[in-house]
Amino acid sequence: MRARLGSLLFGGSCFLCRGSASALLCAACDADLPRLAAERCPRCALPSPRGETCGRCLAHPPHYDATVAALSYAFPADALVHALKFRGELALAPLLAGLLSESIDSGADYLLPVPLSRERLRQRGYNQALEIARHLRRGRLLVDACERSRDTAPQLELPYQERRRNVRGCFIAKRAFDGAVVALVDDVMTTGATLDEMARTLKAAGASRVVNWVVTRTLLDA
Ligand SMILES: [Zn+2]
Ligand SMILES: [Zn+2]
Repeated sequence: MRARLGSLLFGGSCFLCRGSASALLCAACDADLPRLAAERCPRCALPSPRGETCGRCLAHPPHYDATVAALSYAFPADALVHALKFRGELALAPLLAGLLSESIDSGADYLLPVPLSRERLRQRGYNQALEIARHLRRGRLLVDACERSRDTAPQLELPYQERRRNVRGCFIAKRAFDGAVVALVDDVMTTGATLDEMARTLKAAGASRVVNWVVTRTLLDA
C-alpha cells in the first residue's frame, strides 16, 4: 500500500491528469479544484446568502460553533479524498492539509482528528483524518484524547434521519478540556452528525468552543 507513495512523490506527473507537474497536482488541476465560495453559513459551511448563519443552524443549533471547509466534495476533490482514504495514498495528506490550512484564519488549543473505531483502524492501517491533522500545525495535536466507544454503521449508508441516532454516544473523551478551544479535523463533512456528536462529547468534557476543520464539504442534502 505504502509503496505507491514513492511513485507519487518522485514520478513528476500530476496525480489527477498524469501530465507533467512539479508538485502532486499540475497548475491546471490545482486551479480546477472546487474551492468553496465565501458566502457560506459560518456554523455549518453550507451556502447561505451574504454568509449569514443558515436557517437550519438557527432552528437547530449544532454543538459545534463553526465550520471551516476548503473544497466542495465534488470531482476532483472527492477523488483525492477517496485515494487518501481507501487507496493508501498518504502523500495526498499534506496537499489536502495545505488546502485546508489556506481557509483557516484562527488557531485552536487542540487539534483532534475524528477517530476511527479500533476495528476500522485495524482494517485500514491508518486514520486519514490524523494524517491530515499532522500537517496542520495550528494547535497541539491530540491523537488519543477522544475514542470511539463502538463501531457504527458507515454514515453514508444511512438515511439522513438515522445518522444522528447511529452516532449517538459513540465517542468517549479521555481527558478534560477545561475551557479549551478544540478543532475537529476530518476529510469530509456530510450531514455533520458525527462532528456534532463529537462536539457534544467534548463540550461535556469542558471544551468552551469546538470548530470543524474539514477538507471537503458535501453541498447536497443527503
Ligand atoms: Zn493535472
Ligand atoms: Zn448552517
